[in-house]
Parts: sequence; structure tokens; C-alpha cells
Amino acid sequence: MIIIMSNNATDKEIKAVEQRLTDYGFKTHPIYGEMKTVIGAIGDKRRLTMDQLKLMSGVENVVPIMRPYKLAGRELKKDPTVIDVNGVKIGGSHLAVFAGPCAIESHEQFSFIAQKVKESGANILRGGAFKPRSSPYSFAGLEGEGLKIMRKAGDETGMPICTEVLDTRDVELVASYADIMQIGARKMQKFKLLREVGKCNKPILLKRGLSSTMEEWLMAAEYIMSEGNENVILCERGIRTFEPSTRNTFDLSAIPVSKELSHLPIIADPSHAAGTYKYVDALAKGAVAAGADGLMIEVHNCPEKAMSDGEQSLTPEHFEALMKELRPIAEAVGKTL
Ligand code: PEP
Ligand code: MN
Repeated sequence: MIIIMSNNATDKEIKAVEQRLTDYGFKTHPIYGEMKTVIGAIGDKRRLTMDQLKLMSGVENVVPIMRPYKLAGRELKKDPTVIDVNGVKIGGSHLAVFAGPCAIESHEQFSFIAQKVKESGANILRGGAFKPRSSPYSFAGLEGEGLKIMRKAGDETGMPICTEVLDTRDVELVASYADIMQIGARKMQKFKLLREVGKCNKPILLKRGLSSTMEEWLMAAEYIMSEGNENVILCERGIRTFEPSTRNTFDLSAIPVSKELSHLPIIADPSHAAGTYKYVDALAKGAVAAGADGLMIEVHNCPEKAMSDGEQSLTPEHFEALMKELRPIAEAVGKTL
């Protein structure tokens, strides 16, 4: 960090700051100016924090040298991370397409959709067994039964499966079925859950919180990575703004911004951003053109009968048409689909 002393800081105040830093094991690199003194300090900020230093007499400001997300950030790892899930690559020049219904409703429903999305070129199956519903009276998923249905369809189609884990108590169970575990928007800052999935050796799809900044999101990734699991995929799914015409506001800028700040792959979820099937195509195309590493799209065989998120689900035919339109866009930005 860099400690900026105020213009009228006395020698005594400067010495006191330097002394405190050395007492806490920091290496100091002061630059004494005629007007201003600036002290560079390198050490462990857990015992002596930037906030504590800011309160010392004569200190004008304290600024970090590095971004707080060290493992998720680009400062220490320049090359983009490519995650291999049973041969399907996420990141680099590969476009990953996660597709499937919001919720797994039955074996017939899920295996039918799985087959259809595979035929259209999706390479990862998505579906919720544990559903985070806004109302306690809504369908909350088939839980363990849903995981079994999903695994079977994944094996039959030869596709990796991605499903949400809601609670620390379910991590072991979900990890025993899933190839990728999803942390939903509502859970992005459940730090115990993040730590728990960080101890697993399964890739984690980390959705952006409803009102999270890029930094909060990358710090959530850092929680997972700091436990040893570095296979994190970011997922932009729209954020809360004042605009009610879509369910959320799709933050297209999150894609180039995350590429600058982080080496982790980022995919886009136009379904939860739009909240209606009508805008999914446009957002999906924009995301691919902006450099997303993949998409997550909700598909349902009969959206009007879906038990969750029917309004934003594409029919298999609509999904097939979208995939065809996405191919030249992917090609234009150097991605294979
Ligand atoms: C989902 O993927 O079905 C879901 C609930 O997503 P989010 O957490 O982004 O709302
Ligand atoms: Mn959904």
C-alpha cells in the first residue's frame, strides 16, 4: 500500500507512521518530498489495516498497490484460464453453451430437452434441482431426485451437467452428481458456501449478485479460489437497476471489464437478464460479439407449462434457430462453437 502524508505533516508524524509500519513487519520505502512525503509499504495487512493507518495523525490517504483479488485478478496471472470439463473447454477460443430448463421437472421433460439442445449444438446441460425461489410457495425443485434425473440425462447425452447448490449442507451431495456447481445470484456473498465449494474439486459457475459491483463479484471468486479451487467461471446474468422493462439490466460492459481485471472465463446468461424470451436472442448475440466465453440459456419443451421461469425460456426450435445465428458471430470474434 501507499501512505500519502498530508502537506503539513510534521517529521514526528512521518516517523510515527514509519515506526508503526516497521513494528508490524512492513518493509517501508519512503519518498521524502519538499511538499509531500509518500511511504510505500509492503507487508501483511491483516494485523495493520489501511483503515487503521488512515486514522493516524498527518496521514492524508492510504491506497492499495494491488487489487484485493489476487488469485482472480490479472496482475499475477496474465494468461486467460481455460477450464476443461470432461473435454468441454470453457475459456480461450472456445464458446461454451449451457442450455436446459430452469428447473428439472421430470425425467421425460429433462431428457427430452437435453437431447434437443445437444442436437442444436449446446455442450453443457443446465437445470435446477435445488431452486432459489423468491416465494416460499413456489416450486423449489426435485432436490435429490432432480440430481439423479440430471445425471442420467448427462450420461445419456455425453454432456457435462451444471446445477445450483444453495446450502453448505448440500455441497457434498450436489458435488457427487454435478460436473459444474452453480452459485446463484442470491448466494454470491454467502461466504461460508463460497468457502465450502472452494474445497471441492469441481468447477464453480459463479453468478453475479443482484446488485454486486465487479469488485464484490471478483472477491466472491477470490473466496472460492483461496480455498484451493481455482476453476471459477463468472456468469453475468443482469443486475438490478431502476429500469423495469426487463427483469434485470444486462451489463454488457461486465464482459470487457472482467477480461481486463481477471483471467477467469466469463459467460453470459441472457435469460435471467431479459426475463422474457423475446430479448434473449439480441442479448446472446451482443454477449458473444463482446467476447463472452459462453452463454447460459434456459430452454423448455413447453414454456407455458414450465414450473419456473417459463416466460424467459426458449422452445427447442427457437434455441436451434438462435444457435445457427450465433455461429457466424462467434466466428467473427475468433471463437469456435
Ligand atoms: C437459475 O440459473 O435458474 C437462477 C436461479 O439464476 P440466478 O441465480 O441468476 O437468478
Ligand atoms: Mn431460472
